[in-house]
Amino acid sequence: MQHAHPPSPARPEGNARPEGRPAESRLLAHPVRQCGRDAPMTRSVIRHTEHRIIRDPETAPNVAASCLHPGCGWAARPGPDVAEVDRQCMTHTGLNSGHSRFLRGFWDIALVHRIEAVTEA
Ligand SMILES: [Zn+2]
Repeated sequence: MQHAHPPSPARPEGNARPEGRPAESRLLAHPVRQCGRDAPMTRSVIRHTEHRIIRDPETAPNVAASCLHPGCGWAARPGPDVAEVDRQCMTHTGLNSGHSRFLRGFWDIALVHRIEAVTEA
């Protein structure tokens, strides 16, 4: 006895088919899919919006320096003038022989402005 099942359609995952080129296409498609799937997910979504960054005009930059001599906790009085901070460092070295290395830092407050995209009229 035979049941009247219709012949099952060709399955794409069957690899015993001599016709066509399923094996080739699988070989070509597989690495691409793998690459996309295994790629690191760290991704930046960059929109087409321009930004610019400037120093906050209502603030002043700050320069600081601290002595790197072991055990010395001296630090210059921070301010916007790097030359003034440098003078403090030189004075500190003049008063403390061997205190000649300083960690200098500069920081300010930045503002990012979003530049609205010009849309076509
Ligand atoms: Zn010092």
